[in-house]
Amino acid sequence: MEDMRLQKFLAHAGIASRRAAEGIIRQGRVTVDGRTVTDMGVRVSSGDRVAVDGKPVVLEEEKIYIMLHKPAGYVSSAKDQFGRLTVLDLVRDINIRLYPVGRLDYDTSGLILLTNDGDFTYQLTHPKHEINKVYEAVISGAPGEKEIKMFEEGLKIEDYTTSPAKIEIISSLRNNSLVHITIHEGKNRQVRKMCEAIGHKVFSLKRISIGSVALGELPEGKWRRLSEKELKSLC
Ligand code: URA
Repeated sequence: MEDMRLQKFLAHAGIASRRAAEGIIRQGRVTVDGRTVTDMGVRVSSGDRVAVDGKPVVLEEEKIYIMLHKPAGYVSSAKDQFGRLTVLDLVRDINIRLYPVGRLDYDTSGLILLTNDGDFTYQLTHPKHEINKVYEAVISGAPGEKEIKMFEEGLKIEDYTTSPAKIEIISSLRNNSLVHITIHEGKNRQVRKMCEAIGHKVFSLKRISIGSVALGELPEGKWRRLSEKELKSLC
């Protein structure tokens, strides 16, 4: 990005018209790299961190990539026809239009990526890229050797057969098990259907990683930017 005057930057970012942006600057609501700026002559470029009322402002053409810990009870599309909360309600503190990469069910929690980069979304969601996703689930009973093998060989679900997948028992609780399931496809409710196909009910489901990017300790409902290293590992 070429350097430009701060008011032009704010206008390009969709904050306000250039004239209204001057008013916002004069009111002391704008910071550049953490310092309040009230001078109209200040120029900014892509390396500068600009914020209005403490909220980061980025130009639409700057690509941003974030990970969010989606709680259950949020839809993962940008809009919901029933007016339910969406994952975008959890990233209101960022002034840029973002889109979820792929989907998680309303009742599934865990790692979801959001970006304004359509190529990145395509790359991650196209089946030919076969990016592994790991889910942690609490299921009824404990899968035996035969069922584990069925997972590995592919299961017939409705009108398709799943690609080889992995199910690993992490711990056995009373009548349930905590398992890790690895798949690279993303069909509708696929993990739940696969577990049901081998006779196990799913009580809770959480995605814990996408490729080598792990949810880690990010608290539920919170987001952070992907690091350069994480981004490179996915592209
Ligand atoms: N599989 C499911 O069943 N649900 C999800 O949300 C993701 C994968």
